[in-house]
Amino acid sequence: MKLLEDRIRRDGVVVDEDVLKVDQFLNHQMDVGLFEEMGKEWARLFAKDNVTKILTIEASGIGIACVAAEQFGCPVIFAKKSRTKNINGEVYSTQVRSFTHGNVSTVIVSKQFLKPEDRVLLIDDFLANGAALEGLIDLVQQSGATLVGAGIAVEKAFQPGGQRIRAKGVRVESLARVKSMRGGKVEFCGADF
Ligand code: 5GP
Repeated sequence: MKLLEDRIRRDGVVVDEDVLKVDQFLNHQMDVGLFEEMGKEWARLFAKDNVTKILTIEASGIGIACVAAEQFGCPVIFAKKSRTKNINGEVYSTQVRSFTHGNVSTVIVSKQFLKPEDRVLLIDDFLANGAALEGLIDLVQQSGATLVGAGIAVEKAFQPGGQRIRAKGVRVESLARVKSMRGGKVEFCGADF
């Protein structure tokens, strides 16, 4: 998506060869107009999939997921980071290793919000090693709902997550795919990458 790529070129900050900061418009200050265009693009891509729920993970995916949900006309659920594993069986729970912090956290979704009849679209800001998406996929599988696919804002295509998740047969639609960040310069994948 050209609009997002242009914005990354303009305002993205390459922290090192692995980490891109987009605090100017996505992860801290949020450009809701841009989110709207992103939501429209995912809505176009998943138009035929009858999405009934959008699922994201606390915290940085929540803003884009909410704006996307307006386009789909469905609710958003965010998987919550929980310190206690709920043992009462009222939640689906899984473990996710954070790319940015390195720690492992338990994330949960209440069973009342994900049902076998749901058709779920995952939304997240970044796809790196794929741990966050794998956790969300696990939660959807536990619920028996149908996974429609994943909408990602920025996929770092030089890291293994995209390939790993697609190899599972999950449809991943990333609006910007970064090929490399060598020398502090963001290079995007061509359409055929
Ligand atoms: P993964 O689980 O795919 O390794 O990483 C995805 C998660 O880590 C995203 O939810 C995002 O919050 C965070 N993340 C991964 N790479 C980056 C990055 O380059 N920049 C920022 N800001 N967050 C990232």
